[in-house]
Amino acid sequence: MTEAVRYRVSMPQPHSHLFQVEARFPAEGDTFTAVLPVWTPGSYLVREYARHLQEVSAATPDGEALPVQRVDKRSFRVQNRGRPVVLRYRVYGNELTVRTSHLDGTHGYFNGATLFLYSEDLRGRQHRVRVEAPSGWKTFVALEPDGEEYVAHDYDELVDSPFEVGPHTPLTFTAAGIPHQVVVWGEPHPDRDRLVSDLHKIVEAEARLFEGLPLRRYLFLIYLTDKGRGGLEHKASTALLFPRFGFTNAKGWEDFLTLAAHEYFHLWNVKRVKPKALVPFDYGQECYTSLLWAFEGGTSYYDNLLVRRAGLMTAPRYLTRLGETITSLQGTPGRRYQPLAEASFNAWIKHYRPDENSPNSAISYYLKGEVVCALLDLELRRATADRRSLDDVMRLLWTRYGNECGVPEDGVEAAAREVAGRDLTPFFDRALRSTEELDYSVFAHVGLEARFRVRESQNDKGGTPPRWKGPDLRPRGWLGVATKGASTIAHVLDGSPAMQAGLYPDDEVVALDGFKVDGSGLISRTEEKRPGDQVTVTLFRRDKLLSVPVTLGQKPADAVYLARVDRPTDAQKAAYQAWLGASWDEAAEPGRSPPPP
Ligand SMILES: [Zn+2]
Repeated sequence: MTEAVRYRVSMPQPHSHLFQVEARFPAEGDTFTAVLPVWTPGSYLVREYARHLQEVSAATPDGEALPVQRVDKRSFRVQNRGRPVVLRYRVYGNELTVRTSHLDGTHGYFNGATLFLYSEDLRGRQHRVRVEAPSGWKTFVALEPDGEEYVAHDYDELVDSPFEVGPHTPLTFTAAGIPHQVVVWGEPHPDRDRLVSDLHKIVEAEARLFEGLPLRRYLFLIYLTDKGRGGLEHKASTALLFPRFGFTNAKGWEDFLTLAAHEYFHLWNVKRVKPKALVPFDYGQECYTSLLWAFEGGTSYYDNLLVRRAGLMTAPRYLTRLGETITSLQGTPGRRYQPLAEASFNAWIKHYRPDENSPNSAISYYLKGEVVCALLDLELRRATADRRSLDDVMRLLWTRYGNECGVPEDGVEAAAREVAGRDLTPFFDRALRSTEELDYSVFAHVGLEARFRVRESQNDKGGTPPRWKGPDLRPRGWLGVATKGASTIAHVLDGSPAMQAGLYPDDEVVALDGFKVDGSGLISRTEEKRPGDQVTVTLFRRDKLLSVPVTLGQKPADAVYLARVDRPTDAQKAAYQAWLGASWDEAAEPGRSPPPP
């Protein structure tokens, strides 16, 4: 058997945030080159991990120093003259996200792409890691242990297996016959019994969809912190970052479950069934695909749906959340300029690098992808009289591409066509390759219709019918900005009165019509006025005081909710039940909200 690449990771001074790494390569040629990835799969941004690498030295296993030279931002060349190479270096890890590394007095968390120099020539070999943990800390990783080492079959598996090292007591459960481990870093710890019980139900629901689990064990790593949220999928584990007090209310708990369901769904959709453009991973540069709408949007569609199928969300609540997602899409002017397929292709420079112009120029492939997948599911159900659905497309892709050979760029559309038994080109042309508004009429298949209304407050995310049923429904004034912090303009929406009048992102608002106002007050007070009213916004721009007159427009009806049709047929009721697993009659009006005060 060929010799493995071996790493030893230690954390002698956790407070320094420095991981110490020793990497031993069975090198043979005259020179040997080791490189570090610039990105990690699942997070499509060049992060230049090598910027945290320091003090790289090389030696033979006998301790003879070897010359080492940095040849570009991520590569090191060693003059080894045929001898094995031992590289020693330190890596600074003080960024607590799911795609970076973090070491402090409480734990060490590391992603392989940030820590492990590798050789392109040896990439296919076994990579073995020994962790020298500080006293009282244990190591948690999805890799198989072998003695004191953890074994990855190749470098890809190593990169795909984040390590958590700390004084944790894991939770465990078995679902669909497979052992699962849950490790939580941070406080306060969520209710253990409920956490295990809910994750168990989600895993079972996902296993039912794909008729089993493609793994031997699974690890949930949960990080509770003061800011940030997000997850990163791996083949046999996931890392989830969540607000520490997010579990204390029903909505927060629901959000956590959808996040966990999302990353778990990636076990199939993107970790095993993946775009051909990512096969094999090129860790040195961007890998372009227009399929992220299916891999991220599809996964976002299923994360809510699977929590519903697991019995952890009611059907009306599911419809409220879907309505909120559609509202978010309809409130993003960038949908008029960037087609969905292009949003995917440009992930590297757009999605992960949002700026003040993003809402006007781009659309998220998560967001629009989720809505398009919902519409596609309903199209398939309608085309096959509810005999088939998007579930069948997912299973077909799994059967066809589950061996990681890669889905060609037209592979998802072809699979959907096969399941539908008819040409879906017009649907995909409109949904993926044009900026035409989506056609929501297919909701009629399940007895629903998308209705538009004006948002009733700044916290109104749509999804529910209007709360206010009283007589005062006069049109409201509209400025067309979003604010951040106390009073700074974050975005000036495309085509808005604010853009027309010359308000800019980063303007600091101080007054409206001569009276002091903050960001939130600016919006609410202009909404109390009427379309066509003149107002004067006083602001600081680069420290200079300015007054800008604005003629208000009319607040648009861009909040969407899914309402029931007036006289549903038996076929519509049956299709609703087939889709959401709930009887039409047992459910209330979708997303009914509490009566107004
Ligand atoms: Zn995802």
